[in-house]
Amino acid sequence: MCGIVGFVGRQEAAPILLDGLSRLEYRGYDSAGVAVVSPRREIQIKKSKGRLQVLSDLIHGGKDMEGTIGIGHTRWATHGAPNDVNAHPHMSEGGKFAVIHNGIIENYVEIKEFLIKQGVHFKSETDSEVVAQLLEFYYNECHDFFEAVGRVLRRIEGAYALGMLCADCPDRIIAARKDAPLLLGYGDGENFIASDVTAIIKHTREVAYMEDGEVAILTTDGIEVFDALQQPVKKERHHIDWEVSAAEKGGYPHFMLKEIFEQPEALRRAISPRLKGGKVVFDDMKLTVEQIKAFQRIFIVACGSSYHVGMLGKYTLEHLTRRSVEVALASEFRYCDPIVDMNTLVIVISQSGETLDTMAALREAKARGAYILSIVNVVGSSIARESDDVIYTWAGPEIAVATTKAYSTQLAVLDMVALAFGEALGAVDAKEYEEAVTELEKLPGKMETVLEHCEDIQMFAAQHFNHNSIFFIGRNLDYALGLEGSLKLKEISYIHSEAYASGELKHGTISLIEEGTLVVALGTYGALFDKAMSNVVEVKARGADVLALTTESHRDEMAKTVSTVLTIPDTAPMLLPSLGVVPLQLFAYYVALQRGCDIDKPRNLAKSVTVE
Ligand code: GLU
Repeated sequence: MCGIVGFVGRQEAAPILLDGLSRLEYRGYDSAGVAVVSPRREIQIKKSKGRLQVLSDLIHGGKDMEGTIGIGHTRWATHGAPNDVNAHPHMSEGGKFAVIHNGIIENYVEIKEFLIKQGVHFKSETDSEVVAQLLEFYYNECHDFFEAVGRVLRRIEGAYALGMLCADCPDRIIAARKDAPLLLGYGDGENFIASDVTAIIKHTREVAYMEDGEVAILTTDGIEVFDALQQPVKKERHHIDWEVSAAEKGGYPHFMLKEIFEQPEALRRAISPRLKGGKVVFDDMKLTVEQIKAFQRIFIVACGSSYHVGMLGKYTLEHLTRRSVEVALASEFRYCDPIVDMNTLVIVISQSGETLDTMAALREAKARGAYILSIVNVVGSSIARESDDVIYTWAGPEIAVATTKAYSTQLAVLDMVALAFGEALGAVDAKEYEEAVTELEKLPGKMETVLEHCEDIQMFAAQHFNHNSIFFIGRNLDYALGLEGSLKLKEISYIHSEAYASGELKHGTISLIEEGTLVVALGTYGALFDKAMSNVVEVKARGADVLALTTESHRDEMAKTVSTVLTIPDTAPMLLPSLGVVPLQLFAYYVALQRGCDIDKPRNLAKSVTVE
């Protein structure tokens, strides 16, 4: 989950590392640190609790650390409190090695006990420190940096992306990866490691993605990569073609707001190339009609907001294909002995393509013979590479921890998958298909109209940011939409919130509604509008303050009961949540803003969840 960056070249390393870390801070931000090898061949480490700025001030923007090779880290603590000592990099006791680590070393207790018996003294409570200490232990036996790394990797278990420095080999960084993202950046007389391309894109656009088990040696002159058997590997290079500005705020106060407003454009990118002659066409999908017909079971597996996309996808897929679809949380799926075999299609959804739970679920499904179709944003990410088929969402880099444009593009892609499958199976009604395709084309434009009314939402948020608890209610598609609206609010404003299928209220939760409770009533789905209205009346009768969201065509009807009504343009039913989510994102954003929350970096969270 943390951010890793490493640099070897001719320029001063520390400022480059700090700049790289500033672009990775969204991955983890409880502490940060850098290690640089000085011209006197000493490893200097500076690290501190808190945001990157604290570290940057401590070392005066990097000026205090001389040296042209170094590694940096922003942490998202898994083992040990977020404090100065537990921050990375970790130094071995003898001062020969510095290590940054993303992931969890699962057998660290046993290794730590072993090393303590050998007389090694540990400083931190982290699992990661064992890597630095074990490196030194093996190095004292073999006196070879690369060989010592190999021995460490054979001994440790768990997930890791590692960046390692050795004072005796001051010309190189050694990097290793297993189940955690790490890429190599090829520059001119300088080379990089990073957990995410945003950290190094200023310096190079030529990257290669490390595979599990690989070890890389980076020097000024080049990068050598070896497999787990220490055999050289030739890496395929990728050219990154998006602009640096895509990962900058561009005048917006927060990445989240920028990304909310980027959604129409992101949708255009995701949708337009896939609509041809009134049909949904996935040039990038390998699945054949025969294969689609042969699947007996379909799962959608994801976490967090992607899981909510999956819930919406279930409604749409089942409706358009008349096949049953199960949606599973990735963290549960892998441990529930899922009924998956060669005739199963597993659709996995992940923005980063590195989400560990989703990755583990993918591997579980693959091991059981399933066909894996992934919907992923980050090109070349681990999930994309391990899938049989991948559809990219092309949302561009998403930096804010709370997802917005990745969610919207995932949803549009899954809707298109549902249409394509429905057509392949001959199950979809021709008129419905045609309407959906026409509306998909109009979707980005309609979303722009929704965004034009953001002041209404800002005003409403200004009146309601002080609630302790907020409920979202809706039926069917509106229920799944409510789950996402509620999650957004929780993530960034820290207000307790729940989403309920409206029909469930009377089975328990309605007891929580009292005078002044804020209920966000979602009534966009026309087929169930009357039912939604009944539930609005029920909560109002118990004193709730209601904010309603419906379509333009239902506004007047809703306004008879509710004084604050937000609307979205009418569209094909399956696309309503794509428009409906925007006011909910904006509501969460403006409430969090009123409450003075750190919107782009909410407490305890990180963007790419690469730990279990
Ligand atoms: N497990 C390590 C720690 O707690 C690394 C966490 C991370 O990936 O930031 O320090």
